[in-house]
Amino acid sequence: MKTIGLIGGMSWESTAEYYRRINTAVRERLGALRSAPMLLHSVDFGPIEQAQRDGRWDDAAEVLADSARRLQAGGADCVMLATNTMHMVAEAIQSATSLPFLHIADPVGQAASAAGWQRVGLLGTAFTMEQPFLIERLRARHGLQVLVPPPAERALVHRVIYDELCAGIVHAPSRRAYLDIVRGLADAGAQAVVLGCTEIGLLIREEQSPVPLLDTTTLHAQAAVEFALA
Ligand code: GLU
Repeated sequence: MKTIGLIGGMSWESTAEYYRRINTAVRERLGALRSAPMLLHSVDFGPIEQAQRDGRWDDAAEVLADSARRLQAGGADCVMLATNTMHMVAEAIQSATSLPFLHIADPVGQAASAAGWQRVGLLGTAFTMEQPFLIERLRARHGLQVLVPPPAERALVHRVIYDELCAGIVHAPSRRAYLDIVRGLADAGAQAVVLGCTEIGLLIREEQSPVPLLDTTTLHAQAAVEFALA
């Protein structure tokens, strides 16, 4: 197996899910006592989140590029970033090492194409819903049209991510609000909804949703396993 290099901590609530899902998938594929060779470099999210708010993306990129270099020095065979939002600076991280970079959008695009969907909704931080870095990759590389909720709903989704989910808080009223927003996206024509923030799977599950959900944490973790086993 190849060694997975994971940049985590944004937040650690979702990084823990990556760890569990990657190892669970390896166990299912290879047997009860098998697990994934993995290097995790987990950052302090506080300064990263402050840099996001200040618009100091270059500062955040330098921290994460340094993580990528540490993963390569430690023997990782790939680099992946366990957050959608920080894919804003994916190029800087990718160019920091000579390792393959497993971009979070690609397994999502591949899953949507495999299911025959052309139009998907997207939930994530305001950065992810309002900037082109994820939406444009889904469009250009995977032919997907991406719908986002209206402004007030985007603000709610963003607030719940930072004030609740990244802080380990899961509130039933927020779950109801998210499911209403998913319903709105489905009514607007979304055939599925991308959980484009790695913590959202801690709040809502597919059984509760009127349309299928494409959870970036699950799909990205599966992509890591495919890479490790290839
Ligand atoms: N984990 C989140 C994401 O997937 C948000 C935290 C962050 O800003 O990195 O976008």
